[in-house]
Amino acid sequence: MRGRVALFSIILLAVALTGCISTDQDYASLTVEVSGEGTITPRQGTHKYPAGTLVELEAHPAPGWTFSRWEGEVVDPYAVRTNMAAEKRHRVRAVFVQDAAVLEAPGGLIRWRADGTQVMARPNGTGDIEYIMIHAMSDAAANPTDPYRIERIREIFDEYGVESHYVIDRQGLTYQFVEDALAGRHGGKGSWGGNPRLANNMNRYAVGIELLGIGTTEEMIPVIGSASNSAIKPRNRGYTEAQYSALEHLVAILQQRYHVPKENIIGHDDYDPARKWDPGVLFDWNRL
Ligand SMILES: [Zn+2]
Repeated sequence: MRGRVALFSIILLAVALTGCISTDQDYASLTVEVSGEGTITPRQGTHKYPAGTLVELEAHPAPGWTFSRWEGEVVDPYAVRTNMAAEKRHRVRAVFVQDAAVLEAPGGLIRWRADGTQVMARPNGTGDIEYIMIHAMSDAAANPTDPYRIERIREIFDEYGVESHYVIDRQGLTYQFVEDALAGRHGGKGSWGGNPRLANNMNRYAVGIELLGIGTTEEMIPVIGSASNSAIKPRNRGYTEAQYSALEHLVAILQQRYHVPKENIIGHDDYDPARKWDPGVLFDWNRL
C-alpha cells in the first residue's frame, strides 16, 4: 500500500515538473444551449477545448421545427453548420422555431396582375435578396369596420398598383402572394443607408411582408381620412400576438434561406419616412 502511494506521488511530481498539468488559461470553454426543439453538435452543455481550437457546430432541428440562427460569436449565425474559434469562455445558443404552414394566397400566387402586366423576376432571382421590408396594410379606407378580410388583399394590391410577397393576418396565418424570386412592387420610392444601389430600387433586393394592421390616428388620418379613421375599433389598431409569432417565424426562415442579416430587416417607414407610416410606432421591433 505504501509502495502504491509512493508511486502515485512520483507520477504526480513527474507530471507537475514536465508541465502536463495545465492552467485554466490554456483552455477555452464553450457552453452550448438550445432554444426551441432540436439538437446540436457538440451536445448541450459546457465543453473545454485547448485555447484556439476551431470548434464545428451543427444544428439539427426536430421534426416540425426550423433552425433559425446561432446567438453568440460564431462565424455565420445563419448557417446550419458553422464554426467558431474557442479562445476564452463562450456561450452559444442554437435557436429553432416551430414550422407554421405558409398558405397560398386566395386566388393563387400573383404572376399576372389584373391589369394584364406581369410581376417581373428579380434580375438574379433569389440571389438578389438582401433585405426584408416590414409593412402594414388593411382595408380601412374602404371598410373601416371590417378592415382585415384576406379576400380583399388582392383587390387592394390591384387598386394601388402594389404587391408584397407575404401577408400575415390577424390570426397569425401567413399567406404568400408573390414568389420570392419575383420583384413584387412593395418598396416604391425611397432610400437606405445612402446606398445609391438601393435608391428607389428596393423591390429588386427586398422581400416584402405585410402585417394586417392599422396605425395610430395620427398615422392613419393622412392615409385614410378622418371619417374612416374615426370608425376604426381601437382593438384593430396595432398588431396581435399571433402576428408577432408568425412574423418571427417567417423572418427566421427568410433570414436562413437568403442569409439576410438582422440589420437588413427594415420598415417601409425607414425606407420612405416622408411618405410611409408603416409599420409605424405601434410595431414593436423588439419582437424581432
Ligand atoms: Zn408599406
